[in-house]
Amino acid sequence: MSAHILPNAMLGILGGGQLGRMFTMSARAMGYRVSVLDPDAESPAGGLADVHLRAAYDDSEALCTLTQTCAAVTTEFENVPAESMRYLEKHVRVSPSAESVAIAQDRIREKRYISGVGLKVAPFLAIEAEADLGQNLGDHLPGILKIARLGYDGKGQFRVKTAQTAQDAFASVGGKPCVLERMLNLKTEISVIVTRTGPGEAVCFPVAENQHESGILDISIVPARVDEAIAERARQMAVHLAEAMDYVGVLAVEFFVLEDGELLINEIAPRPHNSGHFTLDATLFSQFDQQVRAMCGLPPGDTRLLSPVVMVNLLGDIWRDDEPAWDKLLSQPNVHLHLYGKKSARIGRKMGHFNVLAEDVEIALAQALELKRMLREP
Ligand code: ADP
Ligand code: MG
Repeated sequence: MSAHILPNAMLGILGGGQLGRMFTMSARAMGYRVSVLDPDAESPAGGLADVHLRAAYDDSEALCTLTQTCAAVTTEFENVPAESMRYLEKHVRVSPSAESVAIAQDRIREKRYISGVGLKVAPFLAIEAEADLGQNLGDHLPGILKIARLGYDGKGQFRVKTAQTAQDAFASVGGKPCVLERMLNLKTEISVIVTRTGPGEAVCFPVAENQHESGILDISIVPARVDEAIAERARQMAVHLAEAMDYVGVLAVEFFVLEDGELLINEIAPRPHNSGHFTLDATLFSQFDQQVRAMCGLPPGDTRLLSPVVMVNLLGDIWRDDEPAWDKLLSQPNVHLHLYGKKSARIGRKMGHFNVLAEDVEIALAQALELKRMLREP
């Protein structure tokens, strides 16, 4: 794994959404070529890549093409079929590993794995059959029933107060495996993005403080406004997890911070993460640069924060009949707009984001909130 893959080599990525698009831009800026596998003809990354393989994620011909043309392959999402990852792994350098992706794509496995390596998660029950809801649920209610696979941005999640509502929610997802997690009183939420290239070689980006709206990330504030001891513990936990998984690549770790300062791991993503988009403008290397570097066997780049920054997500909600008033953002000299090139805007769809950089994080936050409000105004 240690030989360096150098510019001009072809890098493959499974998935051509916004994360694949920003990966493609990083890789191409460094002189690599990129092949994107995505069935969608209009995927955000497809048009920017050197090659767009328009096929399903389990298409054997397309997977074979990746192994024959790419020096290394990565993924932009965790829901690629595990068998596809395992097939690729037999023929080409793949990071993160199929095993790491398999852990992250199943909430039950993920939570068991994390607790198994001595890190804390929210109290949960694996619900694999209706009978699992027949036990005493007292410690887990009121709670959230979360579908174990394929959920994202709060999709496949149900707030439940009683055993009966939990049963109804379980039935509404067709009895697919779920976790029932106790609803916690959160002081705040933070995340750490760690890049690991091998034993003892892991670096963390500055800790982000995350605010959600309707289960979707809304704002990330960096540096997070938590005690340095909490930030340090979060970084240590993220590195511990990455080491335990023998992880290679970029790993995102979401944390719950409880009132007493206790840290629980909420979930992980085996890839760059929405809460790491601040790195596009506020650190020397972005999380996508790190993804390229890690898969190419290069050491992780410097992660120090060059400026306080606040990232605001742009969801399809603000599109209405027309494009949002971009001049409000573009006329600001300290605001960086990123749009993902998606053809149609829908409620809740991630269309882009903007980063506000200022000498002080509170100043950046105030400006970010004001700009967000202005964009929402009809
Ligand atoms: P997703 O995969 O959709 O991001 P998460 O499990 O991260 O799912 O949940 C989305 C958000 O919902 C979290 O960031 C948090 O704000 C809230 N949430 C999830 N689980 C809990 C919980 N047990 N207690 C309190 N809030 C929660
Ligand atoms: Mg989440």
